[in-house]
Amino acid sequence: MKITKRESTYQLSFMPRIFPANCFIIEEEKELTLIDCALPYSYKAILQTSAQIGKPITRIVLTHAHSDHIGSLDSLKQALPEADVFISKREEKLLRGETSIEKEEEQTPIRGGVPAPKSIKTVPNQLVEDGDNIGSLQVLFTPGHTPGSISLLDRRNRHLIVGDAMQTRGGIAVSGDTRPWFPFPAMATWSKQTSLASVRKISEANPTLLAVGHGNMIENPNDQITIAIQRAQNKWKEQI
Ligand SMILES: [Zn+2]
Repeated sequence: MKITKRESTYQLSFMPRIFPANCFIIEEEKELTLIDCALPYSYKAILQTSAQIGKPITRIVLTHAHSDHIGSLDSLKQALPEADVFISKREEKLLRGETSIEKEEEQTPIRGGVPAPKSIKTVPNQLVEDGDNIGSLQVLFTPGHTPGSISLLDRRNRHLIVGDAMQTRGGIAVSGDTRPWFPFPAMATWSKQTSLASVRKISEANPTLLAVGHGNMIENPNDQITIAIQRAQNKWKEQI
């Protein structure tokens, strides 16, 4: 596990060489917010990092319900029974293994590793929507990779953690735009059209730091986000 720190944002990267999966710890004055739960064994390193910082994890936020982002959820909730667990209202269905598409959504199947029904014991107690606040973080509803994916904008420094709405491993890309050196997030993407609209929203949030589920953080990312949007637009203009 490798830790990269930028101000109050800690990126914990697991298996950084083969299939890097990130989760994030956001430091608040007296407590920590964990964003995503990485892989099943990751809970030990997450708890160790919290102990090293010297503050408790009081909130667990899930950007989406794919297996590489919820792997340690049950172990962490067991170790931290008081922690509040946040997920979007839409994504909570996926966490329960309910994969039906809503009427107003693009009628295409949800992809990627979604939990089997009843396989996750943790029941999130906070269902969030666009604009809600979680400590210093503001929820941005950024669906596309999955129908209920969210991003988290730190209002203090405009760090933006986008889950798999974008990737930077293998080259920066909008979710669904395949990067041959790291094609997995694209393979697991539900709706390219919805993804692209969400990345425009990410760009409008004017982040000072972009943090993703797979790949390194990017400082002052706005030009690179614009290039990623243009790349996806050019590739998909005949498809969407
Ligand atoms: Zn992922």
